Amino acid sequence: MLRALLLAPPGAGKGTQGERISEAAGVPHIATGDLLRTHVAQDTELGRTAREFMQRGELVPDSLVLELVYGTLAEPKPRRGFVLDGFPRTLAQAEGAFSWAKRVSRTFHAVITLDVPQPELVRRLLERGRSEGRDDDTEDTICHRLDVYESETQPLLEFYRARDILVPVDGTGTVDEVTDRIMTALGPLAPFV
Ligand code: AMP
Repeated sequence: MLRALLLAPPGAGKGTQGERISEAAGVPHIATGDLLRTHVAQDTELGRTAREFMQRGELVPDSLVLELVYGTLAEPKPRRGFVLDGFPRTLAQAEGAFSWAKRVSRTFHAVITLDVPQPELVRRLLERGRSEGRDDDTEDTICHRLDVYESETQPLLEFYRARDILVPVDGTGTVDEVTDRIMTALGPLAPFV
């Protein structure tokens, strides 16, 4: 059982590491970016609204994201735990997530942060843009997303620090090295490794 949140700037490896942690813990990996991209690809009403924000590198409005996450967490699979990746990204989302947890008598065990210097983030995102063709991995949008992370998401660190659940991890080096660091940092929370 693990209920973890992943908080890191674009390009820090949230998706890759989130997948690995969730596999090791046997719980679903729920990435709001992936959920939103699925809605965009399926051209749902939510997808049509989200698309323009995503293309500009802006955050999708809190109310839409919260609705999406609450719906996903209410499904049977996440009842045994989850790794939430890319959410919460604003204070309003964090407050929403914590009041959801209180409502359903659950707690979050850890908020894992991945620290990677900005030039390395830009390099990784440009490379992903070339290999995966994500249309928000262009130079202008990357810079904007990093600014949005700093102004909207970074302040959440204080919110979590006050709740004593931050697990900071150095996100540089190889994928395996970062996974090892995460598992070590999770310590007794990672009895699944
Ligand atoms: P990601 O895959 O996490 O890099 O997210 C890609 C894009 O999806 C972001 O730039 C936002 O436009 C949108 N997005 C993903 N998660 C959230 C969230 N929690 N709140 C608002 N927008 C989000």
